[in-house]
Amino acid sequence: MKILLIIIDGLSDRPIPQLGNKTPLEVAKTPKLDFLAKRGICGLIEPYLMNERPKSDICHLALFGYDPKIYYLGRGPYEAAGIGIKLREGDVALRVNFATVDENLKVIDRRAGRIEKTQPLIKALSRVKIKGANLLLKKSYGHRAVLVLRGKNISPTIPDNDPQKVGERVRKTAKILDEFLDKAHQILENHPLNKKRIKNGLLPANYLLVRGAGQFRETPSFNKRYGFSSCCIAGGGLYKGIAKILGMDLIKVEGATGFANTNLKGKILSAKDALKKYDFIFLHIKAADSLAEDGNFRGKRDFIEKIDKNLKPLLSLKNVLIIVTADHSTCSLLKRHCREPIPILIYGNGQDLVKEFSEKACKKGRLGKIKQLDLTPRILKLTSL
Ligand code: ZN
Repeated sequence: MKILLIIIDGLSDRPIPQLGNKTPLEVAKTPKLDFLAKRGICGLIEPYLMNERPKSDICHLALFGYDPKIYYLGRGPYEAAGIGIKLREGDVALRVNFATVDENLKVIDRRAGRIEKTQPLIKALSRVKIKGANLLLKKSYGHRAVLVLRGKNISPTIPDNDPQKVGERVRKTAKILDEFLDKAHQILENHPLNKKRIKNGLLPANYLLVRGAGQFRETPSFNKRYGFSSCCIAGGGLYKGIAKILGMDLIKVEGATGFANTNLKGKILSAKDALKKYDFIFLHIKAADSLAEDGNFRGKRDFIEKIDKNLKPLLSLKNVLIIVTADHSTCSLLKRHCREPIPILIYGNGQDLVKEFSEKACKKGRLGKIKQLDLTPRILKLTSL
């Protein structure tokens, strides 16, 4: 039996008064998800917690059966792998925001007016040399980039310099990195692109805010661990990066953006097609999480309905275990990830009394409540009929 794992990021939520005390998933019209839930088995998953709140990268590792306490690398390496950087053992990778600071290094905008065109800035910064490390800065989407420090004995314990708040001064990081960030600041301040931005009334991208430092080391391959061939279909860089580091193949889908405008139809058809070649397909759909983080619970409901509308090609699959769940819940009213248990449906082997796919309905499912780290072993049991 093959496996199609569909992760709808941040799918579950708390009841919302404006939706009649229901969650976006409960109010969304989802006949196809209900079809799968009704003919499958359901339950709830407890998200893996390393800190107070669940995080996407950590929860993904857990749901692939990798204990984050052993295997978690930090956010930086996954982001780096997601934009195609080939990391080497010992590299330290960080997420970067092009940001705007004032003359006292107080943050004015953490995203430099959401600047898009950062290539000329990155090119200028690539000439900076620092003793003790080679630096690689690569553009991600929008105002984002990834920085890799490569050298002997680079410590991964680099605190974030991003104060996360406007009006606060940027923080110190580590010696090598501070030296680079100072030089980068000087170059960015004097860069013609920034002078032009100021002239046009735009915020200059004159500082690099860094966070999420992590050191790369090999992670045991997913395929070897489970004896699968596997692939990932995702729009968001982080998810591609996690899959890449676990050794999954990446399948590119035109128009898969990781945003609400993503090409859902294309992603789902590609997943169906990939089943011909692979044993395990990881299909990631991002925007339910981002919409909830913006507090847009109606948008989240609509997006869930849009996903449902596109599921038709999957309903006729044979000999495939289809799993639909999330990495964690995202509470629209809190605008952040939250610890609420996550509904799950598994279609293709067995049935219980659950009639629809929702947080409340799945509570009564036969799977009961399982820990995220126990999900993959559970799935494997279901595939060996
Ligand atoms: Zn997530």
